[in-house]
Amino acid sequence: MKFPLTGGCQCGKLRYEIMEAPRLVCSCHCTDCQKMTSSAFSMALVVTEDAFHLTAGEPHLVQRLADSGRMTTRWVCSDCGTWLTGTPRMGGVLRLVRAGTLDDTSWLAGDGPFLDAQQAALGHATRRRPEIRDAAR
Ligand SMILES: [Zn+2]
Ligand SMILES: [Zn+2]
Repeated sequence: MKFPLTGGCQCGKLRYEIMEAPRLVCSCHCTDCQKMTSSAFSMALVVTEDAFHLTAGEPHLVQRLADSGRMTTRWVCSDCGTWLTGTPRMGGVLRLVRAGTLDDTSWLAGDGPFLDAQQAALGHATRRRPEIRDAAR
């Protein structure tokens, strides 16, 4: 893994750098994430707030009251709509970054048993059959 890790939104207006290895790569299967991603789960990197730097653009902030009763704030590109990250949790120490917004996601799909198992559960539709993926665009 090379540092910084870099990523951004679809259109490139928002860009970020991460200066450390993520503490955790986690998946979330909540219904909010399913609606946001149109998928069975979403993936996020847990990084310390000090290691995350927005290097381009100003995010549009979208607030939503979670089922837990906590107000969440998503950082979204106002041009292309990509959800990048959120306002830090855990007293401002940790931040969740949307894993799919990394420039290089190859290491996410490496030999992680948990990711392989979940993609298997999805039938590998997009991974193995790009013609279906492209037709749906
Ligand atoms: Zn954008
Ligand atoms: Zn979720």
